[in-house]
Amino acid sequence: MFDKILIANRGEIALRVIRAAREMGIATVAVHSTADSDAMHVRMADESVCIGPAPGSQSYLSVPAIISACEITGAQAIHPGYGFLSENAGFVQIVEDHGITFIGPSAEHIRIMGDKITAKETAKELGIPVVPGSDGGVADLAEARRVGDAIGYPVIIKATAGGGGRGMKVARNAKEMEHAFSTARSEAKAAFGNDEVYIEKYLTTPRHIEIQVFGDGKGNAVHLGERDCSLQRRHQKVFEEAPGPCITPEERARIGKICADAVARINYIGAGTVEFLYENGEFYFIEMNTRLQVEHPVTEGIFGVDLVREQIRVAAGLPMSFTQDDLRINGHAIEVRINAEKLPNFSPCPGRITAYHAPGGLGVRMDSALYTGYSIPPYYDSLIAKLIVQGRDRPEALARLQRALSELIVDGIDTTVPLFHALLQEPDVQSGTYNIHWLERWLAENLAD
Ligand code: ADP
Repeated sequence: MFDKILIANRGEIALRVIRAAREMGIATVAVHSTADSDAMHVRMADESVCIGPAPGSQSYLSVPAIISACEITGAQAIHPGYGFLSENAGFVQIVEDHGITFIGPSAEHIRIMGDKITAKETAKELGIPVVPGSDGGVADLAEARRVGDAIGYPVIIKATAGGGGRGMKVARNAKEMEHAFSTARSEAKAAFGNDEVYIEKYLTTPRHIEIQVFGDGKGNAVHLGERDCSLQRRHQKVFEEAPGPCITPEERARIGKICADAVARINYIGAGTVEFLYENGEFYFIEMNTRLQVEHPVTEGIFGVDLVREQIRVAAGLPMSFTQDDLRINGHAIEVRINAEKLPNFSPCPGRITAYHAPGGLGVRMDSALYTGYSIPPYYDSLIAKLIVQGRDRPEALARLQRALSELIVDGIDTTVPLFHALLQEPDVQSGTYNIHWLERWLAENLAD
């Protein structure tokens, strides 16, 4: 096992990794920008190294600075968290070339899943059902029109290099294709420096269901059921739960096995998520994330496992500590993403936290790097806390969420907490009957300025 690992990230996810490492007796190195000298992950780690100025591009994304920090401190492995360099195959290659272990999948696995067209092709080959659509990239408008006619409208035009819900445009009919195609391409170019796009059937009432998989890199893999992340704003998740309210044990076993078998076949190592849209009892693959996800705690809650500990174990060459048969679902877990944002427009709201009190009690987990007196810098993601609750069943988890939200105090800035108070009053949220478009519609009706 490693003696010391470096965490190439910040915020709550850096704390999450430090906590797992500490329980395993592993020393931790935090890296930070000049804007983060007072951040909680720096305070909590055993050692810290300043790796550059505030902008992420010059610090948390600076490969030479991170490799140097590893060499100076003698860290044997790097945990990337999520975001930043976590799905950067070039980074993984450089890490391995320096004799440092990357806690995550191989550069090759990241590469095949990072490009969405290759990912879809790989998924198809591995027996995973995919959304009907174009065969790879679509070169021009004429081809886009042919694809639209062939698969039927509405369609969605997506950036091959896409991520974070950007570079997607819907065409409801042939007339809308010209505009949608050209804006999707220019947005893709601006956001990702690559204007290649592909086309998929646009599903009108799907839920977002994703399967957590885990491999040991030696041909063994398991699945840890699904998460339902259908409540989304601008294709970004805000509320996630496990198990999915609409998934039966039979469906879970079937799609879970397909995903676990697929990643086993490629000797996948570590945590991964296979994302699907789910409509009329059918699963349609959209992408795979080759890293730990923001919403992993709901899975940890219902299965009682520590996914980060497991990631560190397999990276060190140890076997997984559980088999598929050991994994049993216990209760229901829900996560809400609390952002430093001002409603109704969700405009970023960094600033000084004048008072902070985290909720507690049975079945409550707060993953956050906040503390009273902390100043949230304006340079990074607006996620400031993840509140995760667990109950014996969904109604108990919902009641616990409401109770925990009422205990939470974050003074000095605006947050998205009022959104969750309001959502919990909605009959559709209480019954779990919504699809990926529900929240956008609700926001337009209830939060319009
Ligand atoms: P990103 O990597 O940018 O997050 P994804 O491919 O994972 O992109 O899609 C994100 C979200 O966009 C999905 O959860 C869903 O809400 C919506 N979406 C993507 N593809 C489709 C589709 N074919 N039909 C309907 N909605 C879609």
